[in-house]
Amino acid sequence: MSETLIRNAHSVLTMDDAGSEFAGADVLIRDGVIVQIGEGLTTAGEVVEAANCVVTPGLVNTHHHLYQTLTRAVPGGQDALLFGWLQTLYPIWSRFGPEEMRISALTGLAELALSGCTLTSDHLYLYPNGARLDDTIDAATEIGLRFHATRGAMSIGESDGGLPPDALVEREEAILEDCIRVIDAFHDPREGAMVRVGVAPCSPFSVSRELMRDAALLARDKGVMMHTHLAENDEDIAYSEAQFGCRPGQYAEELGWTGPDVWHAHCVKLDGQEIDLFAQSRTGVAHCPCSNCRLGSGIAPIRDMVDAGVPVGLGVDGSASNDSSNLVAEARQAMLLQRVSRGADAMSAREALRLATRGGAEVLGRHDCGQIAPGKRADLALWDVTGIDSAGSWDKAALLLAGPQRVRHLFVEGRQVVRDGLLTTIDLGATLAHQDTLALRLAEQP
Ligand SMILES: [Zn+2]
Repeated sequence: MSETLIRNAHSVLTMDDAGSEFAGADVLIRDGVIVQIGEGLTTAGEVVEAANCVVTPGLVNTHHHLYQTLTRAVPGGQDALLFGWLQTLYPIWSRFGPEEMRISALTGLAELALSGCTLTSDHLYLYPNGARLDDTIDAATEIGLRFHATRGAMSIGESDGGLPPDALVEREEAILEDCIRVIDAFHDPREGAMVRVGVAPCSPFSVSRELMRDAALLARDKGVMMHTHLAENDEDIAYSEAQFGCRPGQYAEELGWTGPDVWHAHCVKLDGQEIDLFAQSRTGVAHCPCSNCRLGSGIAPIRDMVDAGVPVGLGVDGSASNDSSNLVAEARQAMLLQRVSRGADAMSAREALRLATRGGAEVLGRHDCGQIAPGKRADLALWDVTGIDSAGSWDKAALLLAGPQRVRHLFVEGRQVVRDGLLTTIDLGATLAHQDTLALRLAEQP
């Protein structure tokens, strides 16, 4: 039996149904699970003093392309819209292999962990030069984050009227075969799972109608979740109307892509009818505010979605369209962006943090994560509120208004992944040096 006691926290934001907050509370963890919250608790195990810290559930990232961490701020793509940005980056990504995939993922995961993330999904939709989903799962296992890998895919290349170059697309039969392989090899449906696998064709503009439909059938047969990009910007809507004769929501519904086992990234351009469809079907949304700003995609109607009952989580999106994997910064951006369009009372700091924790866990089907309550997994972020970022704050728990951008401590399944601001599981300096070498090599190739 292993126990850790987080003692005398400045405050504990539980994100339970009532939104309970406790000052001066202890949190007792046993064998990866939260067992008790209270005052004056004791343990024979490890004690972490938390008087300087606000304790929150670990943040949950619902959309990422970790492989893109090696291609941030690429000059030709810095100021492009989505489609132009993709066309700049596809040729660079086509030079990736297994080593680039693993180190890129490890770097992105390290940044996520330091920004409070304990559970992340990833959407890997290209597999050049022998790269496999396994490469990213290896990275997540090494660093110790809870990981929902999704087997993405592209099958419509340029010569068939799609956006990606032909060299980056795969045969649809091979895609489905590899989906089965990775689900059978890695997917863990049990409570407390550290790795789950989902099925995730890249987007309606890079795979066929048949693959969308078959992927949904396969995912439901295997009991795994489904993920894709949807309604990201005006170009995306125009493509849907021109190619499929309908809006993205209708396309998704027709092909089986609505339901509590589905979550879509972006959804910036969902209209009222589509929001109702998502609410009624409990279809999830991964809101990626920094990426939407970065690519000029627009402001997703998150206030309307949440009010209608759509499950919403947050995502940093790929590092190349953010260009950051800082999840607490993403939560702050989510709060700010709703205020731009709807006013200062459109989203509070606590509500944005709730989307970043409980909301994301629900979107990923993880009812065992996302809140601090007895019986839930011990995924916890401890934020030191005695530093410059919190100085002068009258409400230290309003972390997204004035608070640190990095955690002091991070626990995943009760294991300490960050201690005193440093990763315990990997050598970050060596990882950064390795990714530098790989990024340089990519930049030097023609
Ligand atoms: Zn994306």
